[in-house]
Amino acid sequence: MRFTRLRLNGFKSFVDPTELLIADGLTGVVGPNGCGKSNLLEALRWVMGENRPTAMRGGEMEDVIFAGAATRGARHFAEVALSIDNSDRLAPSGFNDADVLEVSRRITRDAGSAYRANGKEVRAKDVQMLFLDASTGAHSPALVRQGQISELINAKPRSRRRVLEEAAGISGLYQRRHEAELR
Ligand code: ATP
Ligand code: MG
Repeated sequence: MRFTRLRLNGFKSFVDPTELLIADGLTGVVGPNGCGKSNLLEALRWVMGENRPTAMRGGEMEDVIFAGAATRGARHFAEVALSIDNSDRLAPSGFNDADVLEVSRRITRDAGSAYRANGKEVRAKDVQMLFLDASTGAHSPALVRQGQISELINAKPRSRRRVLEEAAGISGLYQRRHEAELR
């Protein structure tokens, strides 16, 4: 699964609409402390369906909305859109059959999150499953948070196993089994 573009609007420190083109190969993000490097990774995680505010370093999910600064008022919504190269048509049916799949998530104060795939409303679960199956999901070990390496070294075997399972791409299967058992 290749990401080609990330758009942010009102997400954390990215108050103005921002577009990042993601080229082939390795991408580096550099900048001074507090410029928003971690916020960018969190935006990726968030648009893939992260639902734990703590993973966004917040108390509530609404905390991802630009909270205002000395010269600017707070925003009422935050939106992140991620474009994925779908020229090989790997996205499951139910998602648009187009060369580019754009998944977006928007949160509004008091109204929670809404997800779209190429403009069409989809469920959070569909988005989470799409990325889980591609092993790049919100909890994916492909995304390593600041400080996570030392956490992993000190982790209990059980949580370390979960990381390995996610890396192996079998978490989606566990999720489906869990849901089947609930039915
Ligand atoms: P470091 O190099 O120290 O790791 P960084 O580049 O990773 O820094 P981030 O942690 O991504 O920086 O960005 C932190 C900045 O984002 C802080 O200035 C913080 O005030 C701002 N920020 C976070 N959430 C919001 C929000 N909801 N509204 C406005 N600004 C926010
Ligand atoms: Mg950081």
